[in-house]
Amino acid sequence: MTQNVTVIDHPLVLHKLSLMRDKTTPSVVFRQLLNEIAYLLAYEVLRDLPLTKRAIETPLAAVDAPVLEGKKLVLVSILRAGNGFLDGMLNLVPSARVGHIGLYRDPTTLAAVEYYLKLPEDIESRPVIIVDPMLATGNSATAAVMRLKQAGAKDIRYVCLLSAPEGIATLSGAHPDVRIFTASIDSHLDDHGYIVPGLGDAGDRMYGTK
Ligand code: URA
Repeated sequence: MTQNVTVIDHPLVLHKLSLMRDKTTPSVVFRQLLNEIAYLLAYEVLRDLPLTKRAIETPLAAVDAPVLEGKKLVLVSILRAGNGFLDGMLNLVPSARVGHIGLYRDPTTLAAVEYYLKLPEDIESRPVIIVDPMLATGNSATAAVMRLKQAGAKDIRYVCLLSAPEGIATLSGAHPDVRIFTASIDSHLDDHGYIVPGLGDAGDRMYGTK
């Protein structure tokens, strides 16, 4: 495994993930679980945020207390499945700025095609966290990172629920500076670019569109 990948295999995350993988889990429960896991992953992804000290007074004493330093984070959701992941992260960092990037997979070539982009203005001076539940071929992820770099982003992390070895190899090959966080690296991709064993189409599972 490449050095820039962190697998967040906390028992609570893995338990919730198994419930999500189960094909009998209904959309309403699937969304709730995704929300909960996003919250837990965000906690680990943001573990090294820089701190500074602020002088405050408790009811008992004056103290230099740690508070977050620097500008607010940017969370960028890859539409549409990223949105379900975004909500849980926003619960933990509600003041984060939010960007959206719309990419769809060409069903024949599996290449990423961009159809929407809206980002906060001063992205170059903020940590950027890209969120998408599934890192499959890595084509969308690689295209999203490239667009964010073009927009000036310098500190980029990529968070997914499930990943395939192929997607990790593609993303970290193209962008070795981007740290990848995932709850599981599954076995492989099938001929249609789906993660095996995976959980199916995350967007369809979330929104009941199949
Ligand atoms: N996107 C999904 O939603 N599921 C996969 O398995 C791969 C890509």
